[in-house]
Amino acid sequence: MSKNVSIDWSNLSFSYTKTDLRYVSIWKDGNWDEGKLIEDNMITISEASTAIHYGQQCFEGLKAYRTPNGDVQLFRPDENAKRMIQSCNRVMMPEVPVDKFIDACMQVVKANLHWVPPYGTGATLYLRPYVIGIGHNLGVKSAPEFMFGVFAVPVGPYFKGGMAPVNFTIADMDRAAPHGTGAAKVGGNYAGSMLPNYEAKKRGFADCIYLDPITHTKIEEVGAANFFGITSDGKFITPDSPSILPSITKYSLMHLAKEYLNLTVEERDCYIDNLDEFTEAGACGTAAVITPIGGIEHKGKLHVFHSETEVGPVTKKLYDTLVGIQFGEIEAPKGWIYKVE
Ligand SMILES: *Cc1c(COP(=O)(O)O)cnc(C)c1O
Repeated sequence: MSKNVSIDWSNLSFSYTKTDLRYVSIWKDGNWDEGKLIEDNMITISEASTAIHYGQQCFEGLKAYRTPNGDVQLFRPDENAKRMIQSCNRVMMPEVPVDKFIDACMQVVKANLHWVPPYGTGATLYLRPYVIGIGHNLGVKSAPEFMFGVFAVPVGPYFKGGMAPVNFTIADMDRAAPHGTGAAKVGGNYAGSMLPNYEAKKRGFADCIYLDPITHTKIEEVGAANFFGITSDGKFITPDSPSILPSITKYSLMHLAKEYLNLTVEERDCYIDNLDEFTEAGACGTAAVITPIGGIEHKGKLHVFHSETEVGPVTKKLYDTLVGIQFGEIEAPKGWIYKVE
């Protein structure tokens, strides 16, 4: 804590920095070991690891926030823990118990406390938990051993000059199959999203929107974030599909929309040919919090929601409420905040 880190907190981006200590635990012969904190940020594993060849791995992302009185807190880490259990089950990896997951996150934050950005910078300490299949293996089958790791990286606010809307286009490619792994945070889903992301960016868009893989008529995801729209009669709408990655930010916003903003909340189909029903739209996730969607390009035409330059009032209110809770300025719903002590 007393150690000094010389960092320009206000100019951090979403990129890797090695911090002091990371956590690692190994699963072997049916059990996780106790886990420990280590300095080394390199991993040496078998060249035949399933994580490398068959994508047997999963990951999580959550943040530690510095509050006005200098405390450090996590936002709903139990939800990340539960989602990682779902991901592990989907790709046949041993579950990391919720308590072990939260304890590992706490240990990593405590060991890197001086890397948690000061309150007021908008920056946070991003935690990246992961499980990978390791050990010697050749055929397509579950690995003999697994590694659970957590590392921490200070990251800047997504929008440096304040929140600003960005435009998206529709992807030709799918990110998930109808009964595939779309709902699991597993690496394979992301390798396949790099090309459509690259192509969208080349054409001047922030990222692409994925439609449902069966009919290609309904919005599923906005890049690696969930979609929501606000209707003119004040409803918070977000798509419902088994191939969407269940965003903790999205479920948190659904609660806040209902309990703090008095909006009606609906999880249901959002048809790409019916964008007129929304007066505002946004993408949400831990990294970007809320990205206001200026417009969506579809069939050669840009559909603009509230404005291409200004953030809509409901989106702004949702953002301020969520971020206020995460940084400890607004009282959180019971059980959402875990103090790091
Ligand atoms: C991680 C992720 C999200 C956002 O989930 P949060 O829990 O809100 O961070 C949304 N979509 C995809 C595809 C993701 O990988």
